[in-house]
Amino acid sequence: MKKKLVKLVSLSAAAVMAAAALAGCGSSDDTLVMGTNAAFPPFEYTTSEGLVDEFDGIDVAIALKIAESMDKTLVIEDMEFDGLIASVKTGKIDMAVAGMTATEERAQSVDFSDTYFVASQVILVAQDNEDILSAADFLNDKTVGVVLGYTGDSIVTETLGVAEDKITRANRAIDVVQDVKNGKLDAVVVDSATGKALAEKNDLKVVEDPSVFDTEEYAIAVQKGNTELLDAINAVLAEMKENGEIDALAEQYN
Ligand code: GLN
Repeated sequence: MKKKLVKLVSLSAAAVMAAAALAGCGSSDDTLVMGTNAAFPPFEYTTSEGLVDEFDGIDVAIALKIAESMDKTLVIEDMEFDGLIASVKTGKIDMAVAGMTATEERAQSVDFSDTYFVASQVILVAQDNEDILSAADFLNDKTVGVVLGYTGDSIVTETLGVAEDKITRANRAIDVVQDVKNGKLDAVVVDSATGKALAEKNDLKVVEDPSVFDTEEYAIAVQKGNTELLDAINAVLAEMKENGEIDALAEQYN
């Protein structure tokens, strides 16, 4: 019963009133405002000495390059993941760089850059859990944690049809991971790179199920029609892909 996550195949027509798009933009002339949810290692997290203030991670490193290429100072707004699309839409932030999967639904509200990372969802369970070997096992009365508004949330809710009273939605992955550790939840569904990092830190087991969890492509979201910023982002991403910098970052932050 595999229902594919609808992925963004081509960028939507970008020739849309650039002037209107720039009105109400989150940046001043010399700043570029990145919105993110800094609870998603290795893409964005907080640490005592981050790349930008307390923020560090693959996305922060990429965003810095983008700001540099535009001669702007990067400013980071940390917010709930669920609020990022609206913040791009209203111009509160210039771009969402948040390990965000480019889905068709989101692309109705924002424009996405080219893809810079491919991931999928994984399941995290306690080391001694032997009841959950695939996502279908959730339907045997299991409790599942997800992060509100993540693609993992929509797969568990819509694709798998897990009952509402069995789903716990948190604003940060670590909160539901703690619940699995404490035995309050049977499983968590979260993005693969983050899931693997969290499993290692918290001594949990990773269960993969490619029959349900399709690949997801991460991209940067900008306000619809902001081709100037989108072009600058895509130029930096192309260069970083070509010279191996993205691979190096994935390795470095692994
Ligand atoms: N890739 C997932 C999504 O877009 C999770 C992203 C995140 O938590 N930052 O929904």
